[in-house]
Amino acid sequence: MSVPAVLEDLRAQERAAGRAPGSVQLVAVTKGHDLAEIEAKVLPYGPLPLAENRGQELRDKAAARPDLEWHFIGPLQRNKIKYLKPVRLVHAIEEVWQAEAIAQAAHGWGQAPDLLLQVHNGEVQKHGIAGADLPRVLAAVRATGLTVRGLMVMAPQDAPDAQVLQVFTDTARRAHDLGLSELSMGMSGDYPLAVQAGATLVRVGRSLFQ
Ligand SMILES: *Cc1c(COP(=O)(O)O)cnc(C)c1O
Repeated sequence: MSVPAVLEDLRAQERAAGRAPGSVQLVAVTKGHDLAEIEAKVLPYGPLPLAENRGQELRDKAAARPDLEWHFIGPLQRNKIKYLKPVRLVHAIEEVWQAEAIAQAAHGWGQAPDLLLQVHNGEVQKHGIAGADLPRVLAAVRATGLTVRGLMVMAPQDAPDAQVLQVFTDTARRAHDLGLSELSMGMSGDYPLAVQAGATLVRVGRSLFQ
């Protein structure tokens, strides 16, 4: 596919799910693609947020194009916090210390990213916050002064559609119960299910560059 094809399909998926047109934002996952390719294949189709999952790659690209909206979707080790200065939204907060470290660094930046909390998806040994811990973690993350805009989840790998849809639907319910409006879920292989379940941000990479 390509960016215009994915955008067109996204609008069709919104209609099929009875969602308002434009209610789902495409986040272009640009990890592994250099700026020349991003400028040729993504940027002509509108001002999309661009998402990276490696600290140094993000730093270099965002330094070259500070005019673009950058998101960070990778797992967040302590040594990567320093690269987040240009980031508008961090998708995968899993522990309170990550938010505390970002808040502390942001004092020196003069700006701070907003956050999403990553929810555990039921897989063994995978990333994310267990559902039962979400209210406590949300309160502690908010105590840093940073803004939590919603939840993020990754579908379990190689799971049947019904199970993926269940994970997305459960996450949407948790966000609703917590009063959070943004839902980052769905990738190239499963974004139609995520749109059906109420995603507001889909993180699509491979399909944009094929
Ligand atoms: C790479 C990545 C994506 C995009 O996956 P595709 O299969 O390339 O669409 C989405 N979310 C996260 C967290 C990723 O690391």
